[in-house]
Amino acid sequence: MAVSHEVDVVTIGAGGAAYPAGFLLARAGLRVVMAETKGVLSGNCLAEGCIPSKAVREVAAQLSRQKGFSTRGLPGELRVDYSAIVARKNQIQRERYDQHLRELEKVPGLSLVTGRARFRDDHTVEVDGPEGLRRLSARHIIVASGSEIFRPSFPGAELLIDSHDLFALDPRVTELPRSLVIVGGGYIGLETASMFRALGSEVTLLERGEQILSGMDRGMVSELAALLDPGIRIVLGAEVQGAEKTPEGVALHYRVRGSSPVTVRAECGMVAVGRRPVIPEGFLALGGTATSRGIVVDLSMQTAIPHIYATGDANGISPLFHSAVRQSLVAAHNILAGGRVVDAFNPAAVPVTVFTIPEAAWVGLVPEVAVQKGIPVMTARYDFSEDSRAQILGEPGGGITLLFEPGSLRLLGGTVVGVDAASLVGEIGIAVAGRLTARDLANFPDQHPMSSEGLGKAARSLV
Ligand code: ADP
Repeated sequence: MAVSHEVDVVTIGAGGAAYPAGFLLARAGLRVVMAETKGVLSGNCLAEGCIPSKAVREVAAQLSRQKGFSTRGLPGELRVDYSAIVARKNQIQRERYDQHLRELEKVPGLSLVTGRARFRDDHTVEVDGPEGLRRLSARHIIVASGSEIFRPSFPGAELLIDSHDLFALDPRVTELPRSLVIVGGGYIGLETASMFRALGSEVTLLERGEQILSGMDRGMVSELAALLDPGIRIVLGAEVQGAEKTPEGVALHYRVRGSSPVTVRAECGMVAVGRRPVIPEGFLALGGTATSRGIVVDLSMQTAIPHIYATGDANGISPLFHSAVRQSLVAAHNILAGGRVVDAFNPAAVPVTVFTIPEAAWVGLVPEVAVQKGIPVMTARYDFSEDSRAQILGEPGGGITLLFEPGSLRLLGGTVVGVDAASLVGEIGIAVAGRLTARDLANFPDQHPMSSEGLGKAARSLV
């Protein structure tokens, strides 16, 4: 028999799209239950995404930087111990799970139930889990069910690993593959290619399209492509036909635009061809709507059913952890206002980084979109070849491109490739969100000798 509870808010999922709202609402005095199949907070970001992949990537980036210094004061061989890298990655994941648990215990009125949630009606969710069936009735529901790895269907695709196998807690892959072939040149495929190449694997990347990082600003992508380790073998226009097991690992067969088939062999094959939104059972039958991108919401995060919100990867607007966090807070603010819209998500100022070595990042308006949409802009450029920190690090490639509105000189967006790109794009993002102008940037004494002084230097070319 199902146990029934009446609460104020139920979240489906407990990842970045759910728990910030859960904490905020419970601290405001509401009774909140988060239903999560994994039984832990933080969703796929901590389970197999951002955190564990960066735990590996940072070692690779460190190694690559240190190799650069081998002729600049740090001679000597560096050895990669991949099992130690994995052990440390696991430890970081465990520590963060413990930390979240301690935070959760401190908040009365907020609880986590383990199990898969499905809609019974528009105010009731059933959770099937190890403690039996629970029926949760709530005034508001936040669907934060995230996304899952999409697996292609070519013959032999099951022989290939995915990002879960690499980055999950106690992952399947615990030794550095001598050779790795990756299907998919999106950000997950490219980041993985870049970090494993830096760690010493022989890497081939097969991308069906004519550009890696499809959909991203072409200028930024070609600037990045020129700086990636040339040892990463990138094949564009490659249509994978199938995979086969071999004594040493796997063979992948592909064709480039109808030409004769080519086979690439590696110890390990990986797919990274995208993620799909997860839509909880029963949601569509209630009148909720979704496209292939995700659940349809407006920027207040309300679905077609006003007291049901959908946040994070589940709505596909901006499938990034930090967007999920912001969206969950938007939903929470609107719930606290009794469903009135008092807050909305702003997709025009979300910083995004591709954590390759080096990084590429952007926020807001980028050059290619400005051209496509006919938006007039004034562009300011700063090359890292003239940057003191980039010179000190011996990494002078790339630079900062900033786009301003003509006349007002308001900052609309920009791209960064190279040194500190992930940090710089955050600073640019704050300036975009705060509606700062080239004059504001030009007049701000940003620190010397840090790469951020490039923002002011770029802006000064326009004022
Ligand atoms: P986001 O960043 O949008 O929060 P994640 O994919 O990181 O996305 O987190 C979503 C979480 O939702 C995952 O941990 C997943 O296990 C959980 N989840 C998905 N569907 C259900 C469901 N029907 N019931 C409970 N939890 C779910």
